[in-house]
Amino acid sequence: MYNECGEKMDLLTQGQKIIKKINDAGYEAFLVGGVVRDYLLGIPVKDVDITTSATPYVIESLFDKTIPTGKAFGTITVIKNKESFEVTTYRTDGTYLNHRKPESIKFSNDVNDDLKRRDFTINQLRMDAELNVLDAFNGRSDLNQKIIRTIHNPNDRFKEDALRMIRAFRFSAKLGFRIEEETLNSIQANASLIQKISIERIQDEFKKMLDYEVLKPTVKLMIDTGFAKACFDLDQGLKYLLNVGELNPFERIYRVSLGIDFKKAPWKFPLKTLKKIADYNDLIKAFDTLHPRLFLNYPKTLIFEVADYLKKTSSINKIKELETLYEGLIIKDKKDLKINGKTIDEVLKPKDKSLIKTILNELYDKVLEGSLKNTKDALIQEVKTRKQGL
Ligand code: ATP
Ligand code: MG
Repeated sequence: MYNECGEKMDLLTQGQKIIKKINDAGYEAFLVGGVVRDYLLGIPVKDVDITTSATPYVIESLFDKTIPTGKAFGTITVIKNKESFEVTTYRTDGTYLNHRKPESIKFSNDVNDDLKRRDFTINQLRMDAELNVLDAFNGRSDLNQKIIRTIHNPNDRFKEDALRMIRAFRFSAKLGFRIEEETLNSIQANASLIQKISIERIQDEFKKMLDYEVLKPTVKLMIDTGFAKACFDLDQGLKYLLNVGELNPFERIYRVSLGIDFKKAPWKFPLKTLKKIADYNDLIKAFDTLHPRLFLNYPKTLIFEVADYLKKTSSINKIKELETLYEGLIIKDKKDLKINGKTIDEVLKPKDKSLIKTILNELYDKVLEGSLKNTKDALIQEVKTRKQGL
């Protein structure tokens, strides 16, 4: 994001400008939640939320580019220099239904109404256009003491919305904070309520959590408190994250998947992730025999990625063997074979087209072991010998 002079303008400065504009129109507005918390902790600010007394209609009239993201709930996204800012009207939540969603919401003129519906004291801090910090529920002191504590009675707050329990763990992992005792006891007592929450919402929080670098203390706490077990048997997967070295985010997802019984638990992974998990499983098995065709069937980078994962998580180190195997390969890619499936089809015209793949694999193997030359003539000759069998 750049200002008129071409200098990079940060999200916060841009957020301040939006607030000023709302103020100039006669309404209150503040930066709120994660942006304030992370700014005070010196963590890079990713997204900026703004809370305001102005209604969504006023916000839409004040800014050129807006999206009615959640207009019924008071949220308008303001677009400035290609960045999004969520501007939400002060609101109070009505009665909560089934431990997850408020039955209704009401707009309010009082910022305190809006702040008290938020989950943790550190998540209700707000800043005005001059970046003065305002603190209605002792968030500053909890921030300094590195504590995650619900606003008001934790039992009530977790009963209202059980997702907040997993959010407590997520923030403890993100910030390295401890969960305050009463809050933690309440999570322990109410853990089973998490089953009322949709798996998509849980997974959104959980996925964010797996990206945080320092994860083990939180994972251990989730298991020890019984929360992980109550959360669709997540304990079985989480325990694979303990007693291993530093893993990257995908490696964590993979290890967690090892403990998930997909037939029993409702966890859903995106198809792309499921495919990569399957590749990891297949490659780890394939490392036992190390067939030369391995490098033709999987990308080299993926093979070494899995070898690296295996080295980190077990005493098995196949990296040297794989390097030697790769160096010695006569062909290093399927495309390197001098004929392709189309040629086999032309020469043999088999009725059963699956035969083409079988023959191709045989050709790869023979070329790789050195018993067949990788020339067009030699390969066609070899294909022709299969004619009698048809
Ligand atoms: P992050 O950097 O991890 O996104 P964040 O504080 O911005 O941190 P969000 O999940 O984006 O977290 O939520 C934004 C704000 O909305 C929170 O700071 C909190 O004030 C409020 N909030 C979000 N979810 C809930 C919830 N389930 N119950 C109460 N308040 C919530
Ligand atoms: Mg956020």
